Amino acid sequence: MERLGADVRCFTEGLYNSRTVMITGGASGIGFAMARSFGLYGAQVIIVSRKEERLAAAERRLSALGIEIEAMVCDVRDESQVGGVVDQAIDRFSGIDVLVNNAAANFWSPAETMSSRSFRTVVEIDLYGTFHCTRAVVPHMIDQGGGCILNVTITDPHRGFPGFAHAAAAKSGVLGLTTTWAREWGRYGVRVNSIGPGPTPTEAGLSGMTTGRFDHPPSFDIQRRRTPLGRLATPEDTASAAVFLCSDAASFITGVNLAVDGGISLPVPSGDLQSDPSIIPEPTCQGEG
Ligand code: NAP
Repeated sequence: MERLGADVRCFTEGLYNSRTVMITGGASGIGFAMARSFGLYGAQVIIVSRKEERLAAAERRLSALGIEIEAMVCDVRDESQVGGVVDQAIDRFSGIDVLVNNAAANFWSPAETMSSRSFRTVVEIDLYGTFHCTRAVVPHMIDQGGGCILNVTITDPHRGFPGFAHAAAAKSGVLGLTTTWAREWGRYGVRVNSIGPGPTPTEAGLSGMTTGRFDHPPSFDIQRRRTPLGRLATPEDTASAAVFLCSDAASFITGVNLAVDGGISLPVPSGDLQSDPSIIPEPTCQGEG
């Protein structure tokens, strides 16, 4: 049996019994942690992404934990593929209670040399992918009397995301969809929220993260030092917040973007060392690098 972090056991056992949760990009990183958390609380989980082998490996790991899991190959950029997997999921589980739009792509690219192809790729996966999946699932949620959409964004794209203009544009769009959908679909009992993970050293995070300074190599260490809570996010931090936001405990919460980032996105007074990413304060806590 896979060892579990203590963080995935904070809620009542069986919280998601008889609920079906679909997670795009659920075979790796943060999406996988969410699939595991929802599954351990009793949900039937559907994970959706492009790479069949990675999906199969995730499916094996999740079933070994006793989770009822279905893996489906789908590119969220393709509206008809998305329609196909949603229909299949509804046939198999008779409904989808929670949709987590987590699939995304990201890579560092200075804005002045970013190609329109790069820009389009990220926008198509992050923004159109979120639109396609939600558009396919929501009519079923409305018919069944409610549901929950959770979009995975970044903490605050409006502050700027140097080196990632494509993701800043896409995730800002997703935040606009979150609030708009929350207002449109509240009357149907459909809640729509977003979650913004802090810097998380997943495989993708490790290849994409920068310090915000173009002449630096990617560094999670600097992000850690700039985080008030003094550590990086784990996929399980975001998964726990997702379990809460999609549960009945959050039944009056809609249209929010919850930062799960140890405070790194908090505004800091001008002149404060933390506001300038090129100035790296020396660590003050014992044990810090
Ligand atoms: P990840 O492991 O690369 O997760 C992304 C997932 O999306 C992968 O499983 C990938 O699987 C899937 N995906 C990509 N393109 C797809 C497509 N066209 N159709 C279907 N699935 C697709 O990265 P992560 O770090 O866990 O990130 C998860 C989420 O957190 C993302 O929304 C990301 O923007 C957000 N986030 C991450 C960080 C961080 O520091 N890691 C910080 C803030 C926000 P396939 O390649 O097999 O399709």
